[in-house]
Amino acid sequence: MPAIAKFVEDAGDDRLADLARTLFRPSGVDGVYARTGLYEGVVEALAALISSHRPADAEVFRFPPVMSRRQLEKHGYLKSFPNLLGCVSCLGGSEREIRAVVDRFEDGGEWTSALGAADLVLSPAACYPVYPIAAERGPVPAGGLTFDVASDCFRHEPSRDIDRFQSFRMREYVRIGAPEDIQAFRADWIERAKGIADRLGLPYRVDLASDPFFGRGGQIVAISQIQQELKFELLVPVRSEEAPTACMSFNYHREHFGHTWGLTMADGALAHTGCVAFGMDRLAVALFATHGTDVGAWPQGVRDALRL
Ligand code: ATP
Ligand code: ZN
Ligand code: MG
Repeated sequence: MPAIAKFVEDAGDDRLADLARTLFRPSGVDGVYARTGLYEGVVEALAALISSHRPADAEVFRFPPVMSRRQLEKHGYLKSFPNLLGCVSCLGGSEREIRAVVDRFEDGGEWTSALGAADLVLSPAACYPVYPIAAERGPVPAGGLTFDVASDCFRHEPSRDIDRFQSFRMREYVRIGAPEDIQAFRADWIERAKGIADRLGLPYRVDLASDPFFGRGGQIVAISQIQQELKFELLVPVRSEEAPTACMSFNYHREHFGHTWGLTMADGALAHTGCVAFGMDRLAVALFATHGTDVGAWPQGVRDALRL
């Protein structure tokens, strides 16, 4: 049975089942779907709406879906989220060795044990590659730096829920600068994001949040993250009111990336960083869940905002 049909049955919710069938086609793997033109049209419209809010000084980068394994190791991802990481692995060696592995597969045998880790991982977030790029340039100017970044992201969290993918698109505005600067950027973006959600006709609330740090030690990190108010999310009821979906997040990393990459201000102080992340696929699913699958019948204000 195809994956979509399965997640639909498990969800036991006809509304979400119909929605999934309209927006996606199964790939055979939970959380990885072919996206229909109807769906993709809304994702593109959302991207344009977010671009229209791009800070004037933002420098644009679009990253590939893979990034340097070394960079991800260096910034501590393995300590925080080893369970979510996807690493690229390839066949290496001589033609004879590779041929032997393929022959084993052709004979019905197991071949994946011959794979070796490449120097690439699947990017788990869009902003990670930007910090070393900024650090290359030397001290951060007094006015700070702003970036507009995006990439396809991977997280190993297979699910049949309509709002949790293994492969999804993330767009971010990233700010690097002095602590007060980052806090102001984040406060400003929380308000701006509420305005965007209003224009999109999405019901929402903004709440403190924590990341799902790995293991028991991770729970302590998560509590500290909440106490320090490092992460807020804009939550939209997609599956239910009780378990709303995080469609955007507003993150303050303090000096984490500054420390990792030697990002400093002109006076030598470590730079602080923050980002606002837009879950493009979650926002699109939230729009369809809220307004239905007939885009032509969406409220006029929402269609105007999206130019649909
Ligand atoms: P959640 O708590 O729901 O797992 P998160 O805290 O892991 O979300 P972030 O790490 O802040 O999410 O990622 C930024 C944004 O990327 C999220 O606000 C969300 O919109 C989107 N996102 C994260 N994980 C997924 C996923 N598995 N599928 C689709 N979108 C996702
Ligand atoms: Zn980020
Ligand atoms: Mg998560």
